[in-house]
Amino acid sequence: MPPSILARIRKNHALEHATLHMLEQGPLPGPVAAHSDWNGITFYGRVDRDVLCRALTRALSALQAGESHLALHSRCGSTIAVPVLSGLIIGLLLHHMSHTTRKESASALTLAGVLSPLLCAEPLALGAQKQLLTDPHVGSAELLTLRTLSFGRITLHRAAIGYR
Ligand SMILES: [Zn+2]
Repeated sequence: MPPSILARIRKNHALEHATLHMLEQGPLPGPVAAHSDWNGITFYGRVDRDVLCRALTRALSALQAGESHLALHSRCGSTIAVPVLSGLIIGLLLHHMSHTTRKESASALTLAGVLSPLLCAEPLALGAQKQLLTDPHVGSAELLTLRTLSFGRITLHRAAIGYR
């Protein structure tokens, strides 16, 4: 039975990160970004199609061989989103809980709550990637197609990933 939509997003996100690790092992002509969905991965940037195809294939083999550490990446968007959201939630909770304290103390406490997740942004984001956002167990995943599209100076590559 093929994985659910949510499971495919997490698996494709792991494959996206592993592919970026593979690409970063060689010279790149410029920055490469990517995002994953339930049908595959879209890569943005001027990376050669054959280089990307080899990186995807190597990443898939590595994950299938159990190299689960490749599913985590320090430049993931979660490195910004997770600490900011955590700070907002902690700040709101502390603000609501601080009715009985003096106004200055409450403001300082709320500010400390908002800023504290930013101090440990990377470990917090990597933890969220490991527990929620990626799944390195890609199982039967396979690269179905890799199409390159250019819109003027913008190039993107769409990798369709299939699961049996
Ligand atoms: Zn990511």
